Amino acid sequence: MEILRGIAVAPGIAIAEAVVLDAEDYRIPERTVAAENLERQREILQHAFTASTDELTRQRSQWSNELGQEAADIFNWHRGVLQTPQLREQIGQLIDESHFSAAYATSLVMRKFQRRFQRMRDPLLAERVRDVRDIERRLLRHILGETREDLAHLTSPAVLVTHDLTPSIAATLSSTEVVGVAMDVGGAASHTSILLRAMGLPSVVGVADLSSHVSGGDLIIVDGVNDLVIVAPDEPTLKQYRDQQQRYVKIREELGDLRDLPAKTLDGETFQLLANVEFPSEVASCIDEGSDGIGLYRTEFLYLQGSTDPTEEEQFEAYREVIGGMSGKPVTIRTFDLGADKYTQGKSAEREPNPMLGLRSIRYSLQQLDMFKIQLRAVLRAATEGEVRLMFPLIISLMEFRQAKMVLHDAMEDLEDEGIPFNRDIEIGIMVETPAAAIQCRDFVREVGFVSIGTNDLVQYILAVDRGNEKVSQYYSSAHPAVLRTLHDVIRTCRRAGVSCSLCGEMAGQPLYTMLLAGLGLRQFSMGPHDIPEVKKLLRMCKIKQMERVARRALSFETERQVVNYLRAQTRKLLPDDPI
Ligand code: PEP
Ligand code: MG
Repeated sequence: MEILRGIAVAPGIAIAEAVVLDAEDYRIPERTVAAENLERQREILQHAFTASTDELTRQRSQWSNELGQEAADIFNWHRGVLQTPQLREQIGQLIDESHFSAAYATSLVMRKFQRRFQRMRDPLLAERVRDVRDIERRLLRHILGETREDLAHLTSPAVLVTHDLTPSIAATLSSTEVVGVAMDVGGAASHTSILLRAMGLPSVVGVADLSSHVSGGDLIIVDGVNDLVIVAPDEPTLKQYRDQQQRYVKIREELGDLRDLPAKTLDGETFQLLANVEFPSEVASCIDEGSDGIGLYRTEFLYLQGSTDPTEEEQFEAYREVIGGMSGKPVTIRTFDLGADKYTQGKSAEREPNPMLGLRSIRYSLQQLDMFKIQLRAVLRAATEGEVRLMFPLIISLMEFRQAKMVLHDAMEDLEDEGIPFNRDIEIGIMVETPAAAIQCRDFVREVGFVSIGTNDLVQYILAVDRGNEKVSQYYSSAHPAVLRTLHDVIRTCRRAGVSCSLCGEMAGQPLYTMLLAGLGLRQFSMGPHDIPEVKKLLRMCKIKQMERVARRALSFETERQVVNYLRAQTRKLLPDDPI
């Protein structure tokens, strides 16, 4: 038995056999497969060779037209290597004789091939090392693509173990037999982690090197409460976790009793508990968990799910489905937040050196006006069918907000000219998720209809800590005094100006921060639907004056540790049995 520590990002306990997904950009570890799986590995290998050769043929004709014969020669060389029978035979032999996975066998043979070139004296031939590496990556991309396909065809529950997971692959897991996830890398506030949480899949990230020493079929426990992953548990541990799993299910069932009760404090103040969603299919769980509406619809997942860009009609239908599903409750649609860890890096020829500070979110939309306008048209049309608000993400300046509004007005004019019905009076707001917007909040509240504080990004930018990097996750904390003071300022500024203010970062769903945020004056919280019942339970146990006292005390501390210890002690008094 091996017990490993990581960062729990989605609560609950998962117990199942591992299915391992390797990553093409990462060293492929030695991995053997069971005898009954060898045939599948040979098929995967065959497919990877065929797909890579076809791809090269297509690229060769495209590039030779644009770049001439020299470029075509390089593609010819790559194709020639792939067509060498010995290469495929060597890899196939490793699968047959050593029972290696197709990915490992390929990377082993290709590395040997690279070393042969490295040793050559002729600098021109030594240069070929890079080409061989290129061929290896191409083959691995196809091999791993096939393995990912296999995920969709799992026939029994499995824990997915992987080096890393993009939000778009994470998004496909809800329709598979995957019951839990454990990853080598990742931070608590990354989009992948948020998705895993939304899907209710117990998950632990940042478990260094896990994927290289777990094999497919190993029994794994993902303990999403205590930040642990247990490989090959012994019998007593397994029994203890099975009991814990049942207790967890029971606690969740009990919380279900709160569904139809209002989020009202003991002294009669009512809060609005809204939900964050990524997919229309999540509307059902919003209703189940008793949400008062949707405070954040992350529409960019429309791009992350399909292989083609979503059309205006497809978007219109998705927005209608969410609005209709909420039956008259308010829905806040956020325009695409593409870029950083979502979509653009994988698609572009050249990766940005610093994507979190790069062409992301509203900046990307404002540079892709056709795409942006299509989205705005779809939202404006769908907004005739319910109470809909429109929100722009990652705003840093008033000019940017005005520019986005101008594009919206353009879209309105076009719809008007075309005689298509739309909602002209849609309320427009911004996310405050950059220090610039927070510092300038007093100016923004004069122009915006509402504000939603995105602490996932705001914390990242105030503290200069990448929200998705496990190496710095100990520095990423919403309890940092600088964050608290910023939140205090923004909430107070909005209240004074009479502008509605919600908070839709992960912090809104963490009971640790409920009293603090309510005490700072926040009345609208937006969170993953599964978090709603517990926050509601806590609010229903409190009075406003008591929470204001908690907030004042929390604001008086100089260090993050003091803030966390204090909030934990206060919350534990009310929720003694919950892991906080
Ligand atoms: C945020 O940054 O807090 C937020 C809600 O947006 P996202 O997590 O989608 O970046
Ligand atoms: Mg954000």
